[in-house]
Amino acid sequence: MSDTAPNSIKNIVIVGGGSAGWMTAAALSSLVSPNAIQITLIESDQIGTIGVGEATIPDVINFNTMLGISEQDFLRATNGTFKLGIEFVNWGKLGETYFHPFGTHGVDMQGIDFHQFWMRYRASNQDSVIEDFSLSALAAKTHKFAIPSNDPRSVLSQLRYAYHFDATAYARFLRDYAEQRGVKRVEGKVVSVGVNGENGFIERVSLDCGEDVSGDLFFDCSGFRALLLGQTLDIDFTDWSHWLPCDTAQTVACERSGPLLPYTKSTAKKAGWQWRIPTQSRTGNGHIYSSQMMGDDEAIDSLIRDLDGPALGAPRKIKFRTGHRTKFWEKNCIAIGLSSGFLEPLESTSLYLIQEGISKFISLFPSADMPASVQAEYNRQLGQKFEQVRDFLILHYKATERDDSPFWDYCRTMAIPDSLTQKIELFREAGRIFRYEDELFSKPSWIAVMLGQNIQPRSVDPIVGGLNDQEIIKSLNSMKAAMLGAAAKMPTHETFLKNYGWAGASTPTS
Ligand SMILES: Cc1cc2nc3c(=O)[nH]c(=O)nc-3n(C[C@H](O)[C@H](O)[C@H](O)COP(=O)(O)OP(=O)(O)OC[C@H]3O[C@@H](n4cnc5c(N)ncnc54)[C@H](O)[C@@H]3O)c2cc1C
Repeated sequence: MSDTAPNSIKNIVIVGGGSAGWMTAAALSSLVSPNAIQITLIESDQIGTIGVGEATIPDVINFNTMLGISEQDFLRATNGTFKLGIEFVNWGKLGETYFHPFGTHGVDMQGIDFHQFWMRYRASNQDSVIEDFSLSALAAKTHKFAIPSNDPRSVLSQLRYAYHFDATAYARFLRDYAEQRGVKRVEGKVVSVGVNGENGFIERVSLDCGEDVSGDLFFDCSGFRALLLGQTLDIDFTDWSHWLPCDTAQTVACERSGPLLPYTKSTAKKAGWQWRIPTQSRTGNGHIYSSQMMGDDEAIDSLIRDLDGPALGAPRKIKFRTGHRTKFWEKNCIAIGLSSGFLEPLESTSLYLIQEGISKFISLFPSADMPASVQAEYNRQLGQKFEQVRDFLILHYKATERDDSPFWDYCRTMAIPDSLTQKIELFREAGRIFRYEDELFSKPSWIAVMLGQNIQPRSVDPIVGGLNDQEIIKSLNSMKAAMLGAAAKMPTHETFLKNYGWAGASTPTS
Protein backbone atom coordinates (compact mmCIF):
# COMPACT_ATOMS: atom_id res chain seq x y z
CA MET A 1 0.00 0.00 0.00
CA SER A 2 1.59 3.34 -0.92
CA ASP A 3 -1.26 5.76 -1.39
CA THR A 4 0.09 9.31 -1.45
CA ALA A 5 -3.13 11.06 -2.50
CA PRO A 6 -3.63 14.49 -0.83
CA ASN A 7 -6.17 13.23 1.70
CA SER A 8 -4.37 9.98 2.47
CA ILE A 9 -3.23 9.05 5.95
CA LYS A 10 0.42 9.96 6.57
CA ASN A 11 0.79 9.42 10.32
CA ILE A 12 -0.67 6.62 12.40
CA VAL A 13 -0.30 6.75 16.18
CA ILE A 14 -0.89 3.66 18.32
CA VAL A 15 -1.32 4.31 22.04
CA GLY A 16 -0.45 1.15 23.98
CA GLY A 17 2.14 -1.59 23.67
CA GLY A 18 0.34 -4.71 24.91
CA SER A 19 -0.61 -7.54 22.55
CA ALA A 20 -3.18 -5.28 20.87
CA GLY A 21 -0.76 -2.44 20.21
CA TRP A 22 2.07 -4.58 18.90
CA MET A 23 -0.23 -6.85 16.84
CA THR A 24 -1.65 -3.71 15.20
CA ALA A 25 1.81 -2.23 14.64
CA ALA A 26 3.19 -5.48 13.22
CA ALA A 27 0.27 -6.02 10.84
CA LEU A 28 0.30 -2.45 9.53
CA SER A 29 4.08 -2.39 9.16
CA SER A 30 3.92 -5.56 7.08
CA LEU A 31 1.64 -3.75 4.62
CA VAL A 32 2.66 -0.09 4.44
CA SER A 33 6.01 1.46 3.66
CA PRO A 34 7.40 3.86 6.32
CA ASN A 35 8.02 6.30 3.44
CA ALA A 36 4.28 6.48 2.79
CA ILE A 37 2.90 6.20 6.33
CA GLN A 38 4.82 6.76 9.55
CA ILE A 39 3.64 4.51 12.38
CA THR A 40 4.43 5.54 15.96
CA LEU A 41 3.64 3.39 19.00
CA ILE A 42 3.59 4.93 22.47
CA GLU A 43 3.82 2.72 25.54
CA SER A 44 4.47 3.32 29.18
CA ASP A 45 6.72 1.01 31.22
CA GLN A 46 5.36 2.79 34.27
CA ILE A 47 1.84 1.51 33.49
CA GLY A 48 2.81 -1.86 32.01
CA THR A 49 0.56 -4.38 30.24
CA ILE A 50 -2.14 -6.72 31.48
CA GLY A 51 0.31 -9.62 31.01
CA VAL A 52 -2.24 -12.44 30.64
CA GLY A 53 -3.59 -14.06 27.50
CA GLU A 54 -1.93 -17.37 27.00
CA ALA A 55 -4.46 -19.43 25.08
CA THR A 56 -5.62 -18.91 21.51
CA ILE A 57 -7.79 -20.39 18.79
CA PRO A 58 -6.55 -21.64 15.38
CA ASP A 59 -7.10 -18.28 13.65
CA VAL A 60 -3.93 -16.95 15.28
CA ILE A 61 -2.00 -19.13 12.81
CA ASN A 62 -3.42 -17.02 9.96
CA PHE A 63 -2.20 -13.87 11.67
CA ASN A 64 1.35 -15.16 12.03
CA THR A 65 1.26 -16.50 8.47
CA MET A 66 0.12 -13.10 7.17
CA LEU A 67 3.19 -11.59 8.84
CA GLY A 68 5.43 -14.29 7.36
CA ILE A 69 6.54 -15.43 10.84
CA SER A 70 8.18 -18.85 11.11
CA GLU A 71 6.17 -21.09 13.44
CA GLN A 72 9.32 -22.51 14.97
CA ASP A 73 10.82 -19.08 15.72
CA PHE A 74 7.51 -18.01 17.21
CA LEU A 75 7.26 -21.07 19.50
CA ARG A 76 10.84 -20.63 20.72
CA ALA A 77 10.40 -16.91 21.35
CA THR A 78 7.15 -17.28 23.28
CA ASN A 79 7.67 -20.59 25.15
CA GLY A 80 4.78 -21.77 23.01
CA THR A 81 3.02 -25.12 23.05
CA PHE A 82 0.30 -26.60 20.86
CA LYS A 83 -3.37 -26.58 21.77
CA LEU A 84 -5.82 -29.11 20.30
CA GLY A 85 -8.88 -27.91 22.20
CA ILE A 86 -10.30 -27.38 25.67
CA GLU A 87 -11.25 -29.93 28.31
CA PHE A 88 -14.32 -28.79 30.26
CA VAL A 89 -14.72 -30.27 33.73
CA ASN A 90 -17.86 -29.96 35.92
CA TRP A 91 -19.68 -27.65 33.50
CA GLY A 92 -22.76 -29.72 32.60
CA LYS A 93 -22.90 -31.53 35.96
CA LEU A 94 -20.42 -32.02 38.79
CA GLY A 95 -18.20 -34.98 37.90
CA GLU A 96 -18.73 -34.71 34.13
CA THR A 97 -16.02 -33.92 31.58
CA TYR A 98 -16.15 -33.23 27.86
CA PHE A 99 -13.74 -31.99 25.22
CA HIS A 100 -14.23 -29.14 22.77
CA PRO A 101 -11.74 -30.05 20.04
CA PHE A 102 -10.47 -27.95 17.16
CA GLY A 103 -11.19 -29.61 13.82
CA THR A 104 -14.09 -31.86 12.94
CA HIS A 105 -15.93 -34.82 14.42
CA GLY A 106 -15.85 -37.75 12.00
CA VAL A 107 -16.68 -37.19 8.35
CA ASP A 108 -19.94 -35.74 7.02
CA MET A 109 -21.66 -38.21 4.68
CA GLN A 110 -24.19 -37.70 1.88
CA GLY A 111 -24.16 -33.97 2.67
CA ILE A 112 -25.40 -34.62 6.22
CA ASP A 113 -23.51 -33.58 9.33
CA PHE A 114 -21.55 -36.38 11.00
CA HIS A 115 -23.18 -35.95 14.39
CA GLN A 116 -26.52 -37.05 12.93
CA PHE A 117 -24.97 -40.44 12.11
CA TRP A 118 -23.34 -40.54 15.50
CA MET A 119 -26.70 -40.01 17.23
CA ARG A 120 -27.99 -43.16 15.46
CA TYR A 121 -24.78 -44.99 16.37
CA ARG A 122 -25.16 -44.01 20.01
CA ALA A 123 -28.58 -45.65 20.17
CA SER A 124 -26.78 -49.01 20.11
CA ASN A 125 -23.47 -47.83 21.67
CA GLN A 126 -24.70 -46.11 24.81
CA ASP A 127 -21.22 -45.32 26.16
CA SER A 128 -20.07 -43.59 23.00
CA VAL A 129 -19.12 -39.91 23.22
CA ILE A 130 -18.80 -37.80 20.09
CA GLU A 131 -15.21 -36.81 20.87
CA ASP A 132 -14.20 -40.45 20.23
CA PHE A 133 -14.54 -39.39 16.59
CA SER A 134 -12.32 -36.31 16.84
CA LEU A 135 -8.66 -36.87 16.07
CA SER A 136 -7.76 -33.69 17.96
CA ALA A 137 -9.55 -34.98 21.08
CA LEU A 138 -8.04 -38.48 20.81
CA ALA A 139 -4.53 -37.04 20.40
CA ALA A 140 -5.06 -34.56 23.24
CA LYS A 141 -6.17 -37.25 25.67
CA THR A 142 -3.00 -39.24 25.05
CA HIS A 143 -0.80 -36.08 25.06
CA LYS A 144 0.13 -36.56 21.40
CA PHE A 145 0.65 -34.03 18.64
CA ALA A 146 1.33 -33.90 14.89
CA ILE A 147 1.04 -31.19 12.26
CA PRO A 148 -2.18 -31.67 10.22
CA SER A 149 -1.89 -33.10 6.73
CA ASN A 150 -2.85 -31.02 3.69
CA ASP A 151 -4.05 -34.18 1.95
CA PRO A 152 -7.84 -34.38 2.44
CA ARG A 153 -7.67 -38.19 2.07
CA SER A 154 -5.46 -38.45 5.15
CA VAL A 155 -7.11 -38.78 8.55
CA LEU A 156 -4.48 -36.29 9.80
CA SER A 157 -6.22 -33.61 7.73
CA GLN A 158 -8.91 -33.56 10.44
CA LEU A 159 -6.56 -32.10 13.04
CA ARG A 160 -6.56 -28.39 13.81
CA TYR A 161 -4.56 -26.61 16.40
CA ALA A 162 -3.78 -23.28 18.08
CA TYR A 163 -1.14 -22.30 20.65
CA HIS A 164 -0.57 -21.56 24.29
CA PHE A 165 2.17 -19.02 24.84
CA ASP A 166 3.57 -16.25 26.98
CA ALA A 167 1.62 -13.16 25.87
CA THR A 168 4.27 -10.74 27.12
CA ALA A 169 6.92 -12.54 25.09
CA TYR A 170 4.62 -12.45 22.05
CA ALA A 171 4.29 -8.65 22.32
CA ARG A 172 8.12 -8.42 22.56
CA PHE A 173 8.52 -10.65 19.53
CA LEU A 174 6.09 -8.51 17.51
CA ARG A 175 7.83 -5.35 18.70
CA ASP A 176 11.11 -6.56 17.12
CA TYR A 177 9.20 -7.42 13.95
CA ALA A 178 7.49 -4.00 13.76
CA GLU A 179 10.59 -1.97 14.64
CA GLN A 180 12.54 -3.75 11.90
CA ARG A 181 9.86 -2.53 9.49
CA GLY A 182 10.08 1.10 10.50
CA VAL A 183 7.65 1.46 13.42
CA LYS A 184 8.89 4.13 15.82
CA ARG A 185 8.49 3.30 19.51
CA VAL A 186 8.11 6.10 22.02
CA GLU A 187 8.36 5.39 25.73
CA GLY A 188 6.19 7.71 27.81
CA LYS A 189 2.89 8.24 29.52
CA VAL A 190 0.11 10.04 27.68
CA VAL A 191 -1.11 12.78 30.03
CA SER A 192 -3.44 14.72 27.74
CA VAL A 193 -5.16 14.40 24.39
CA GLY A 194 -5.64 17.30 21.95
CA VAL A 195 -8.94 17.30 20.06
CA ASN A 196 -9.85 19.59 17.13
CA GLY A 197 -12.56 21.98 18.32
CA GLU A 198 -14.40 21.89 14.99
CA ASN A 199 -14.55 18.32 13.79
CA GLY A 200 -13.78 16.48 17.06
CA PHE A 201 -10.85 14.57 15.55
CA ILE A 202 -7.92 13.72 17.79
CA GLU A 203 -4.92 15.79 16.70
CA ARG A 204 -2.20 14.84 19.15
CA VAL A 205 -1.33 13.19 22.43
CA SER A 206 1.00 14.84 24.94
CA LEU A 207 3.44 12.82 27.01
CA ASP A 208 4.67 13.32 30.56
CA CYS A 209 8.11 14.28 29.20
CA GLY A 210 6.53 17.26 27.43
CA GLU A 211 6.69 15.76 23.93
CA ASP A 212 3.63 15.94 21.61
CA VAL A 213 2.88 13.19 19.07
CA SER A 214 0.51 14.18 16.25
CA GLY A 215 -1.34 11.88 13.86
CA ASP A 216 -4.09 11.53 11.24
CA LEU A 217 -5.35 8.27 12.71
CA PHE A 218 -5.12 7.01 16.32
CA PHE A 219 -5.43 3.43 17.51
CA ASP A 220 -6.52 3.21 21.11
CA CYS A 221 -4.72 0.11 22.41
CA SER A 222 -4.48 1.46 25.96
CA GLY A 223 -6.19 -1.53 27.59
CA PHE A 224 -9.16 -1.33 29.98
CA ARG A 225 -8.52 2.44 30.41
CA ALA A 226 -9.72 3.14 26.84
CA LEU A 227 -7.84 6.42 27.07
CA LEU A 228 -8.84 7.75 23.65
CA LEU A 229 -12.16 6.17 22.63
CA GLY A 230 -13.64 5.98 26.13
CA GLN A 231 -12.06 8.76 28.19
CA THR A 232 -11.52 11.34 25.43
CA LEU A 233 -14.27 10.70 22.86
CA ASP A 234 -16.71 9.54 25.53
CA ILE A 235 -17.98 6.46 23.70
CA ASP A 236 -20.27 4.49 25.97
CA PHE A 237 -20.04 0.83 27.02
CA THR A 238 -22.61 -1.92 26.43
CA ASP A 239 -22.57 -4.04 29.57
CA TRP A 240 -23.24 -7.78 29.25
CA SER A 241 -22.52 -8.77 32.83
CA HIS A 242 -26.13 -9.95 33.32
CA TRP A 243 -25.31 -12.75 30.84
CA LEU A 244 -21.68 -13.31 31.76
CA PRO A 245 -21.57 -12.52 35.49
CA CYS A 246 -17.88 -13.17 36.21
CA ASP A 247 -16.01 -9.90 36.79
CA THR A 248 -12.78 -10.78 38.61
CA ALA A 249 -9.75 -12.99 38.02
CA GLN A 250 -6.96 -14.19 40.30
CA THR A 251 -4.02 -15.39 38.20
CA VAL A 252 -0.80 -17.20 39.09
CA ALA A 253 1.71 -19.36 37.23
CA CYS A 254 2.92 -22.63 38.76
CA GLU A 255 5.69 -25.10 38.06
CA ARG A 256 4.95 -27.57 35.34
CA SER A 257 4.44 -31.17 36.40
CA GLY A 258 3.60 -34.33 34.50
CA PRO A 259 3.41 -34.65 30.72
CA LEU A 260 3.18 -31.54 28.55
CA LEU A 261 -0.52 -31.32 27.79
CA PRO A 262 -1.65 -30.16 24.32
CA TYR A 263 -4.88 -28.62 25.58
CA THR A 264 -6.36 -26.01 27.90
CA LYS A 265 -8.31 -27.21 30.91
CA SER A 266 -11.34 -25.30 32.19
CA THR A 267 -12.83 -26.44 35.48
CA ALA A 268 -16.16 -24.99 36.59
CA LYS A 269 -16.16 -23.96 40.25
CA LYS A 270 -18.65 -22.69 42.80
CA ALA A 271 -18.91 -19.16 41.39
CA GLY A 272 -16.95 -19.29 38.13
CA TRP A 273 -14.18 -21.42 36.68
CA GLN A 274 -10.43 -22.03 36.67
CA TRP A 275 -8.07 -22.31 33.70
CA ARG A 276 -4.89 -24.32 33.34
CA ILE A 277 -2.70 -23.41 30.37
CA PRO A 278 0.58 -25.25 29.82
CA THR A 279 3.49 -23.38 28.20
CA GLN A 280 6.96 -24.87 27.77
CA SER A 281 8.38 -23.54 31.02
CA ARG A 282 5.41 -23.18 33.38
CA THR A 283 1.65 -23.59 33.70
CA GLY A 284 -0.57 -20.52 33.66
CA ASN A 285 -3.59 -20.60 35.98
CA GLY A 286 -6.44 -18.28 36.73
CA HIS A 287 -9.67 -18.38 38.69
CA ILE A 288 -12.43 -16.28 37.15
CA TYR A 289 -15.41 -15.58 39.40
CA SER A 290 -18.33 -13.33 40.18
CA SER A 291 -17.32 -10.98 42.99
CA GLN A 292 -20.95 -10.80 44.05
CA MET A 293 -20.99 -14.52 44.75
CA MET A 294 -17.48 -15.15 46.08
CA GLY A 295 -14.92 -13.18 48.09
CA ASP A 296 -11.29 -12.78 47.05
CA ASP A 297 -9.87 -14.94 49.86
CA GLU A 298 -12.08 -17.88 49.00
CA ALA A 299 -11.24 -17.47 45.29
CA ILE A 300 -7.51 -17.45 46.02
CA ASP A 301 -7.73 -20.50 48.33
CA SER A 302 -9.61 -22.40 45.66
CA LEU A 303 -7.09 -21.36 42.96
CA ILE A 304 -4.05 -22.44 44.98
CA ARG A 305 -5.66 -25.70 46.10
CA ASP A 306 -6.15 -26.79 42.51
CA LEU A 307 -2.71 -25.97 41.09
CA ASP A 308 -0.72 -28.82 39.52
CA GLY A 309 2.56 -27.67 41.04
CA PRO A 310 4.06 -25.08 43.43
CA ALA A 311 2.95 -21.49 42.70
CA LEU A 312 5.54 -19.19 41.14
CA GLY A 313 4.71 -16.01 43.05
CA ALA A 314 1.59 -14.56 44.62
CA PRO A 315 -1.78 -14.43 42.81
CA ARG A 316 -2.60 -11.22 40.97
CA LYS A 317 -6.12 -9.78 40.96
CA ILE A 318 -7.64 -8.40 37.76
CA LYS A 319 -11.07 -6.73 37.69
CA PHE A 320 -12.91 -6.60 34.38
CA ARG A 321 -16.18 -5.55 32.84
CA THR A 322 -17.86 -7.74 30.24
CA GLY A 323 -19.18 -6.09 27.11
CA HIS A 324 -17.94 -3.67 24.47
CA ARG A 325 -17.88 -0.02 23.46
CA THR A 326 -21.03 1.05 21.62
CA LYS A 327 -18.71 2.09 18.77
CA PHE A 328 -15.27 0.67 18.01
CA TRP A 329 -14.40 3.45 15.55
CA GLU A 330 -15.32 7.10 16.16
CA LYS A 331 -13.91 10.08 14.21
CA ASN A 332 -10.23 9.23 13.60
CA CYS A 333 -9.89 6.80 16.51
CA ILE A 334 -10.21 3.01 16.52
CA ALA A 335 -10.09 0.94 19.69
CA ILE A 336 -8.45 -2.47 19.45
CA GLY A 337 -7.95 -4.91 22.32
CA LEU A 338 -9.24 -4.43 25.86
CA SER A 339 -10.05 -0.76 25.13
CA SER A 340 -12.74 -1.96 22.68
CA GLY A 341 -14.35 -4.47 25.02
CA PHE A 342 -13.77 -7.74 26.82
CA LEU A 343 -15.31 -11.18 26.84
CA GLU A 344 -13.90 -13.54 29.42
CA PRO A 345 -11.26 -16.02 28.21
CA LEU A 346 -13.46 -19.14 28.40
CA GLU A 347 -12.93 -19.88 24.69
CA SER A 348 -9.67 -17.91 24.32
CA THR A 349 -11.16 -15.36 21.93
CA SER A 350 -9.56 -12.03 22.92
CA LEU A 351 -6.53 -12.21 20.64
CA TYR A 352 -8.89 -13.34 17.88
CA LEU A 353 -11.03 -10.22 18.37
CA ILE A 354 -7.87 -8.11 18.15
CA GLN A 355 -7.01 -9.87 14.90
CA GLU A 356 -10.51 -9.22 13.57
CA GLY A 357 -10.26 -5.53 14.50
CA ILE A 358 -7.02 -5.27 12.56
CA SER A 359 -8.13 -7.23 9.50
CA LYS A 360 -11.47 -5.43 9.21
CA PHE A 361 -9.60 -2.11 9.44
CA ILE A 362 -7.23 -3.18 6.69
CA SER A 363 -10.14 -4.20 4.47
CA LEU A 364 -11.73 -0.75 5.05
CA PHE A 365 -8.49 1.32 5.06
CA PRO A 366 -9.89 4.88 4.93
CA SER A 367 -8.80 8.23 3.59
CA ALA A 368 -7.80 10.85 6.19
CA ASP A 369 -11.33 12.31 6.27
CA MET A 370 -12.64 9.02 7.75
CA PRO A 371 -15.90 8.57 5.79
CA ALA A 372 -18.91 7.93 8.00
CA SER A 373 -19.97 4.96 5.83
CA VAL A 374 -16.62 3.25 6.46
CA GLN A 375 -16.85 3.81 10.21
CA ALA A 376 -20.42 2.50 10.27
CA GLU A 377 -19.48 -0.68 8.40
CA TYR A 378 -16.54 -1.33 10.69
CA ASN A 379 -18.72 -0.82 13.75
CA ARG A 380 -21.37 -3.17 12.36
CA GLN A 381 -18.89 -5.94 11.59
CA LEU A 382 -17.05 -5.74 14.91
CA GLY A 383 -20.30 -5.55 16.88
CA GLN A 384 -21.49 -8.70 15.17
CA LYS A 385 -18.23 -10.52 16.01
CA PHE A 386 -18.59 -9.65 19.68
CA GLU A 387 -22.22 -10.82 19.71
CA GLN A 388 -21.39 -14.13 18.07
CA VAL A 389 -18.64 -14.86 20.58
CA ARG A 390 -20.90 -13.69 23.45
CA ASP A 391 -23.62 -16.20 22.53
CA PHE A 392 -21.17 -19.09 22.43
CA LEU A 393 -19.80 -18.17 25.86
CA ILE A 394 -23.27 -17.79 27.40
CA LEU A 395 -24.16 -21.29 26.17
CA HIS A 396 -21.56 -22.76 28.57
CA TYR A 397 -23.23 -21.09 31.56
CA LYS A 398 -26.85 -21.51 30.53
CA ALA A 399 -26.60 -25.18 29.55
CA THR A 400 -25.76 -26.40 33.02
CA GLU A 401 -27.69 -28.73 35.26
CA ARG A 402 -25.72 -27.63 38.31
CA ASP A 403 -27.80 -26.46 41.26
CA ASP A 404 -25.12 -26.55 43.95
CA SER A 405 -24.59 -22.79 44.35
CA PRO A 406 -26.42 -19.47 43.87
CA PHE A 407 -24.08 -18.74 40.95
CA TRP A 408 -25.17 -21.80 38.96
CA ASP A 409 -28.81 -21.29 39.94
CA TYR A 410 -28.56 -17.83 38.43
CA CYS A 411 -26.85 -19.00 35.24
CA ARG A 412 -29.19 -21.96 34.70
CA THR A 413 -32.32 -19.83 34.99
CA MET A 414 -31.21 -16.51 33.48
CA ALA A 415 -32.85 -15.09 30.35
CA ILE A 416 -30.53 -15.33 27.33
CA PRO A 417 -30.34 -13.49 23.99
CA ASP A 418 -33.00 -14.55 21.44
CA SER A 419 -30.26 -15.45 18.96
CA LEU A 420 -28.97 -18.11 21.38
CA THR A 421 -32.42 -19.37 22.32
CA GLN A 422 -33.10 -20.00 18.62
CA LYS A 423 -29.83 -21.92 18.24
CA ILE A 424 -30.54 -24.12 21.26
CA GLU A 425 -34.14 -24.83 20.21
CA LEU A 426 -33.13 -25.82 16.67
CA PHE A 427 -30.55 -28.19 18.10
CA ARG A 428 -32.98 -29.66 20.61
CA GLU A 429 -35.50 -30.34 17.85
CA ALA A 430 -33.39 -32.45 15.46
CA GLY A 431 -29.75 -31.68 16.19
CA ARG A 432 -29.49 -28.92 13.62
CA ILE A 433 -26.85 -26.17 13.75
CA PHE A 434 -26.48 -23.35 11.25
CA ARG A 435 -23.53 -21.04 10.93
CA TYR A 436 -24.53 -17.45 10.22
CA GLU A 437 -22.61 -14.68 8.46
CA ASP A 438 -18.98 -15.60 8.72
CA GLU A 439 -19.49 -16.83 12.29
CA LEU A 440 -16.32 -17.68 14.19
CA PHE A 441 -17.35 -20.92 15.87
CA SER A 442 -17.90 -23.81 13.51
CA LYS A 443 -20.67 -26.41 13.72
CA PRO A 444 -18.42 -28.95 15.50
CA SER A 445 -17.72 -26.37 18.22
CA TRP A 446 -21.40 -25.74 18.91
CA ILE A 447 -22.13 -29.47 18.76
CA ALA A 448 -19.28 -30.28 21.18
CA VAL A 449 -20.59 -27.85 23.80
CA MET A 450 -24.30 -28.61 23.31
CA LEU A 451 -23.81 -32.38 23.58
CA GLY A 452 -21.07 -32.01 26.18
CA GLN A 453 -23.49 -30.11 28.40
CA ASN A 454 -26.34 -32.54 27.85
CA ILE A 455 -28.58 -30.73 25.37
CA GLN A 456 -30.04 -33.79 23.67
CA PRO A 457 -31.87 -33.54 20.33
CA ARG A 458 -35.38 -35.04 20.42
CA SER A 459 -34.86 -36.73 17.03
CA VAL A 460 -32.28 -37.24 14.31
CA ASP A 461 -32.41 -35.93 10.75
CA PRO A 462 -35.17 -37.95 9.01
CA ILE A 463 -32.82 -38.98 6.18
CA VAL A 464 -30.36 -40.53 8.62
CA GLY A 465 -33.28 -41.96 10.58
CA GLY A 466 -34.21 -43.99 7.50
CA LEU A 467 -30.76 -45.53 6.97
CA ASN A 468 -29.70 -49.03 7.90
CA ASP A 469 -28.38 -49.29 11.49
CA GLN A 470 -25.77 -51.91 10.78
CA GLU A 471 -24.21 -49.93 7.95
CA ILE A 472 -23.92 -46.84 10.15
CA ILE A 473 -22.33 -48.88 12.94
CA LYS A 474 -19.85 -50.49 10.54
CA SER A 475 -18.89 -47.21 8.95
CA LEU A 476 -18.40 -45.41 12.28
CA ASN A 477 -16.45 -48.28 13.79
CA SER A 478 -13.99 -48.19 10.92
CA MET A 479 -13.73 -44.37 11.18
CA LYS A 480 -12.96 -44.67 14.89
CA ALA A 481 -10.35 -47.39 14.31
CA ALA A 482 -8.60 -45.21 11.70
CA MET A 483 -8.49 -42.28 14.12
CA LEU A 484 -7.25 -44.33 17.06
CA GLY A 485 -4.56 -45.80 14.81
CA ALA A 486 -3.48 -42.34 13.64
CA ALA A 487 -3.38 -40.94 17.18
CA ALA A 488 -1.33 -43.92 18.40
CA LYS A 489 1.33 -43.26 15.76
CA MET A 490 1.80 -39.59 16.69
CA PRO A 491 4.74 -38.54 18.86
CA THR A 492 4.03 -37.10 22.29
CA HIS A 493 3.47 -33.37 22.34
CA GLU A 494 6.70 -32.88 24.26
CA THR A 495 8.80 -35.00 21.89
CA PHE A 496 7.35 -33.21 18.90
CA LEU A 497 8.04 -29.76 20.35
CA LYS A 498 11.58 -30.61 21.41
CA ASN A 499 12.38 -31.45 17.81
CA TYR A 500 10.52 -28.47 16.45
CA GLY A 501 10.44 -25.26 18.48
CA TRP A 502 11.75 -25.76 22.02
CA ALA A 503 12.85 -22.57 23.75
CA GLY A 504 15.25 -24.44 26.02
CA ALA A 505 14.42 -21.90 28.72
CA SER A 506 14.13 -24.57 31.36
CA THR A 507 14.45 -28.31 31.72
CA PRO A 508 11.14 -30.03 31.15
CA THR A 509 9.99 -32.19 34.01
CA SER A 510 8.99 -35.23 31.98
C1 LIG B 1 -8.03 -12.55 33.22
C2 LIG B 1 -7.73 -12.46 31.76
C3 LIG B 1 -7.36 -13.62 31.06
C4 LIG B 1 -7.12 -13.56 29.68
N1 LIG B 1 -6.80 -14.70 29.00
C5 LIG B 1 -6.70 -14.64 27.65
C6 LIG B 1 -6.46 -15.81 26.89
O1 LIG B 1 -6.28 -16.91 27.41
N2 LIG B 1 -6.42 -15.70 25.55
C7 LIG B 1 -6.59 -14.49 24.91
O2 LIG B 1 -6.58 -14.44 23.68
N3 LIG B 1 -6.76 -13.37 25.62
C8 LIG B 1 -6.84 -13.41 26.95
N4 LIG B 1 -7.04 -12.26 27.66
C9 LIG B 1 -7.08 -10.98 26.96
C10 LIG B 1 -5.69 -10.48 26.67
O3 LIG B 1 -4.94 -10.40 27.85
C11 LIG B 1 -5.79 -9.11 26.04
O4 LIG B 1 -6.80 -9.09 25.08
C12 LIG B 1 -4.54 -8.77 25.33
O5 LIG B 1 -3.44 -8.94 26.15
C13 LIG B 1 -4.57 -7.36 24.81
O6 LIG B 1 -4.42 -6.44 25.83
P1 LIG B 1 -4.25 -4.94 25.41
O7 LIG B 1 -3.03 -4.83 24.59
O8 LIG B 1 -5.52 -4.46 24.86
O9 LIG B 1 -4.06 -4.18 26.81
P2 LIG B 1 -2.81 -4.12 27.82
O10 LIG B 1 -2.00 -5.35 27.82
O11 LIG B 1 -3.38 -3.65 29.12
O12 LIG B 1 -1.90 -2.97 27.21
C14 LIG B 1 -2.23 -1.61 27.36
C15 LIG B 1 -1.05 -0.77 26.92
O13 LIG B 1 -1.41 0.59 26.96
C16 LIG B 1 -0.40 1.32 27.60
N5 LIG B 1 -0.99 2.52 28.21
C17 LIG B 1 -2.12 2.63 28.96
N6 LIG B 1 -2.31 3.89 29.34
C18 LIG B 1 -1.29 4.60 28.80
C19 LIG B 1 -0.91 5.98 28.85
N7 LIG B 1 -1.60 6.88 29.56
N8 LIG B 1 0.21 6.34 28.20
C20 LIG B 1 0.94 5.46 27.50
N9 LIG B 1 0.64 4.16 27.43
C21 LIG B 1 -0.46 3.74 28.08
C22 LIG B 1 0.18 0.35 28.61
O14 LIG B 1 1.46 0.74 29.03
C23 LIG B 1 0.20 -0.92 27.78
O15 LIG B 1 1.34 -0.92 26.97
C24 LIG B 1 -7.24 -12.31 29.02
C25 LIG B 1 -7.56 -11.15 29.74
C26 LIG B 1 -7.83 -11.22 31.09
C27 LIG B 1 -8.20 -9.97 31.83
